[in-house]
Amino acid sequence: MSSESKFTVDKRLIDSFGRLHNNLRVSVTDRCNLRCFYCMPEHDPEFMPKSELLTFEETERVVRVGTGLGIDRVRLTGGEPLVRRELHKLIESIVSLPGIRDVGLTTNGIFLSEQAHLLRDAGLKRLNISLDALDPETFRKMTRRDGFDRVLAGIQAAKDAGFKPIKLNAVSVRGLTEDQIIPFGELAREGDIDVRFIEFMPLDAENEWERGKVLFAHEIIGILESEFGALDPQPVSDHRAPASQYRFRDGCGTIGLIASVSRPFCAGCNRFRLTADGKLRNCLFSLEETDVRGLLRSGGSDSEIAQAMQNCIAAKKEGHEINTARFVQPERPMHSIGG
Ligand code: SAM
Ligand code: SF4
Repeated sequence: MSSESKFTVDKRLIDSFGRLHNNLRVSVTDRCNLRCFYCMPEHDPEFMPKSELLTFEETERVVRVGTGLGIDRVRLTGGEPLVRRELHKLIESIVSLPGIRDVGLTTNGIFLSEQAHLLRDAGLKRLNISLDALDPETFRKMTRRDGFDRVLAGIQAAKDAGFKPIKLNAVSVRGLTEDQIIPFGELAREGDIDVRFIEFMPLDAENEWERGKVLFAHEIIGILESEFGALDPQPVSDHRAPASQYRFRDGCGTIGLIASVSRPFCAGCNRFRLTADGKLRNCLFSLEETDVRGLLRSGGSDSEIAQAMQNCIAAKKEGHEINTARFVQPERPMHSIGG
C-alpha cells in the first residue's frame, strides 16, 4: 500500500448526520440480459459506451483508496454483474485487498449455472439472487424476458457451489405479485433460502412508479400471517441492515422485508455507490454525483480520490423524500445506478 493511502480513523466517511459509511456498492455494468419493468426500459436502452466503464484496475483502485477511509464491505452489482466478462478476476482482487472483510454480489441468476463455482473460487462469500416470482408467467411479466428455468438452475448451482445462506430478493408490486407471496413464504419455511420482499421504489426507467403500485410490507405480512399464522419481529442484530426479519411462530424459517418506501431506513444508512462509469453517489435517490473517473484518467492522486469520496459523503442528505411532495426521481434508472 502506498503511504498516500494510509488514512487515519479521522478520515473515516462520516456524514453531517453522524452516519459512518463502510459499505460501498460497486456497479460493474449498466447492461443486463433481463428488462425488469421497474428498472430498465423495455426497448432500446442507452447503454454507457464501453470506454466510459471503469476498468477492473480503476475499480480496484477506488475500492483500495476507500479501505483507507474505512470501507470494509463491498457489494458488486449492476445492471447484471455477471454479463461483465471475467468478473471473478475483479472479485479476486477486491477480496484480497487489506481491510476488506466482506464481498457480496447481487445477480439475477441467469448466468449463475456457468459461473457459481468460479465466483466461489474467487473468494465470493455472499450471494443475493433476485427473483420476483415462482411461476414463469409472472416472471416474464416482471422481467419482460424468458429465463425463469435458468434462474432456478442458477440457484441450484449456487447451492452446489457452497453459497450459504442464499438470499432471494423479490420486488413486490401491487396487482402483479400478490399471488407470489404465499409460495415465497413456503420456500422460506423450507429454511435454506432467506427470502426478502422489497417494496417497489421510484427508480424505473419509464417513470411509471406510483405509490399505488407499491405492495407495502405490512400488507405482505398480512398475507403471510393469513396463511401461516403470526410472524414475530426478530431483534435487530444490525440497525444499519435494510431488511427487517420476521420469524414464523411455529419456528419454521424467517422472512425479510425491505420497506424502503413505507419504513425508510435512511437514519442508519452506511452505504454509498460507485456507478459503472465512475461516479460516486451518496444515495440511490441522489440527484448529484461526484466524478472519480476524471480523476482516475487524468493522473489524480489517491488523496484526491479520497477527497472526492469525503466530499460525496459530506453532501449526503438526511434521507430520501419519496414520501413527500418534494421528491424528484433521479434521471438515472436503477440499472444505471447499481442497485
Ligand atoms: N441485475 C442484478 C439483479 O437483478 O439482482 C443486480 C442489479 S439490480 C438493479 C439489484 C436489485 O435491485 C435487484 O434485487 C432488483 O430487484 C432491485 N431493484 C431494481 N429496481 C428496483 C425498484 N425500482 N424497486 C425496488 N427494487 C428494485
Ligand atoms: Fe436487470 Fe437486475 Fe434491473 Fe432486472 S433488476 S433489469 S435483472 S439490472
